[in-house]
Amino acid sequence: MHAIGVDVGGTKIAAGVVDEEGTIVRAVRRPTPAGNPTRTAEVIVEAIQTLRDESDAEVGAVGIGAAGFVDAARTTVVFAPNLAWRDEPLRERVEGVVGIPVRIENDANAAAWAEARFGAGHGARSVVVVTVGTGIGGGIIFDGRLLRGGTGMAGEIGHLRLVPGGHLCGCGQRGCWEQYASGSALVRDAREFVQTSPDRARRLLHLAGGDPAALTGQHVTVAAQEGDAAALGCFADLGEHLGAGMASLAAVLDPEVFVLAGGVSEAGKLLLKPAKDSFLRHLSPRALRPRPPKVRLSVLGNPAGIIGAADLAREG
Ligand SMILES: [Zn+2]
Repeated sequence: MHAIGVDVGGTKIAAGVVDEEGTIVRAVRRPTPAGNPTRTAEVIVEAIQTLRDESDAEVGAVGIGAAGFVDAARTTVVFAPNLAWRDEPLRERVEGVVGIPVRIENDANAAAWAEARFGAGHGARSVVVVTVGTGIGGGIIFDGRLLRGGTGMAGEIGHLRLVPGGHLCGCGQRGCWEQYASGSALVRDAREFVQTSPDRARRLLHLAGGDPAALTGQHVTVAAQEGDAAALGCFADLGEHLGAGMASLAAVLDPEVFVLAGGVSEAGKLLLKPAKDSFLRHLSPRALRPRPPKVRLSVLGNPAGIIGAADLAREG
């Protein structure tokens, strides 16, 4: 059965018809009217109807992935910081118009599901997807099922406490993982290095046009790809923290595979190598494990959100 997946972001709504092998066979894209919850729901419905009209295959279900907290029953977006949604009964709103089953998911969970089923975690039953972007998001697939938890908030792995009393996090706590191993952490550390050691950060400073505040993650990646020692040092620190957090997750969840996804993972080996080294160093109990979890890079990229939302809707 084909299903439609919708990935609702703060700036765009991307939707696609997905077949049983996880391939997007048709796709549409619309700008998100982010300040207007009712209008956003209307655009979602319009995108779904357009796809159904154009699709040769019959569509049996719709999955909608939204950036925000989704209730455990997968009917309501409790809170979506970028979409002005508060207790938005999205499933009812959309299902009432399209007339086929609709499921709502957290977007990171949907993307993780796709990566586990059809991407870098294919073939494994327990997979942790770590999405390294501005913050750290992700999702946990445990014994073949997506972990949602008691209120639907499971898998917020970016707020694993890594450094007691550490940097203040947007969530109100201190020392969260995403304060040390995200794209924002990479940029913060690189800017700090440029200011404290300008002699050793000439390449980074040059890429940022001479202004440390203008330095971006992309600049750090470019410099690291060129072999710049300062930029490689920033990636080494990031990887160290990333691997340490993954080792803590492995102690609890014992996954077969960790998948690194998100914008920062586009740095490829620059991120994978230090993260994997640190992970294996921190992993417990090393001597007793028959084999350590594998650490791989995402293979699906952005379309994972659409594919996962569709496939989860199909699962019911
Ligand atoms: Zn936090």
